[in-house]
Amino acid sequence: MKRIAVLGSTGSIGRQTLDVAAHHPDLFKIQVLAAYDEVDILAEQVYRFNPACVVIYDASKYQQLKDRVPASVEVLTGQEGLCQAAAYEDTEIVVVAVSGAVGILPTLAAAQAGKRIALANKETLVAAGDLVIPLCKETGSELIPVDSEHSAIFQCLRDERKALQQIWLTASGGPFRKFSREQLQRVTVEMALQHPTWSMGPKITVDSASLMNKGLEVIEAHHLFQVDYDRIQVLIHPQSVIHSMVEFVDGSWLAHMGVPDMRIPIQYALTFPERFETPTQRLDLLGMADLHFEQPDLERFPALQLAYEAGRTGGTMPAVLNAANEIAVHSFLAGHLRFAEIPDVVAYVMSRHQVKVVRTVDDVLQCDQDARELTRERIARGG
Ligand code: MG
Repeated sequence: MKRIAVLGSTGSIGRQTLDVAAHHPDLFKIQVLAAYDEVDILAEQVYRFNPACVVIYDASKYQQLKDRVPASVEVLTGQEGLCQAAAYEDTEIVVVAVSGAVGILPTLAAAQAGKRIALANKETLVAAGDLVIPLCKETGSELIPVDSEHSAIFQCLRDERKALQQIWLTASGGPFRKFSREQLQRVTVEMALQHPTWSMGPKITVDSASLMNKGLEVIEAHHLFQVDYDRIQVLIHPQSVIHSMVEFVDGSWLAHMGVPDMRIPIQYALTFPERFETPTQRLDLLGMADLHFEQPDLERFPALQLAYEAGRTGGTMPAVLNAANEIAVHSFLAGHLRFAEIPDVVAYVMSRHQVKVVRTVDDVLQCDQDARELTRERIARGG
């Protein structure tokens, strides 16, 4: 029986993690739950899973939650509460499924405590991969990716990293794959939130539509698998049947296939190296007309190019890319920025940044804060 902490339990990955745990009550015990501010859903989850500890990030909701859960449940709040939850002594696995750079400190806390980390938060590796990866090596903390592409690569690669030629990251291409530049100018929030193959939270869905998600995944893959950017290729594959591929030095390729259902990579990260049954649909290759591949168009989707640039520059630049993108995406969702302007804003903030080497988490958090401020200013100024 593995005891699990789920950080971001009310989000899309968090809820699917709880589904996985409920499906295998003999394998998993939910010991810690943490969410941003959704008291109702969190209280319901506490009732259902009976954890020892629960965290509500928004301190103004602390009392409201405390009044709703049994007195035996420890209630924590804020960034400090989230970090305590990540290092909770009575757990073996921490699922980091919070959205955005808020995942950095709890991931480091889990790594410091030597937990297995099932990482669904790519922003953490993008911004702080230079800190997280060495710390995991030092403490023996296992970092298992939940992101479907990285889970695929992780499964294909296993112990053969030395023979790796290159990684092929597949991308669905999002809802605007065939849009012209003019059409991209007129994208609404509603249109951006309709993803053709995956059902996800709003931030990642917008990132998928701009291809920034794939860019962040390129940087994530660089850190996870310690591969140079020249050996990470992106391929548009609209059916999302192949979740990614690895190419070995002898010319062999391994591809990971399956239905697009996040419960599969979530469960694998919890049970690795073993596999167990899931209640998901099965792949029906005969019911599929064809599998299609194409080159990503960096002119229509410049966010992917920006991510490669930030990754190759290294240091604090990926953290700046990520912070600017987070603010730009939230501004777009709030109706203050057009979809096509997201990469323009990110490029502007990157152009203003003086790159530093990442030595401490404060180096990352300071650049993150500065970039957020500059992005907000730029958006408020307009154009
Ligand atoms: Mg992904």
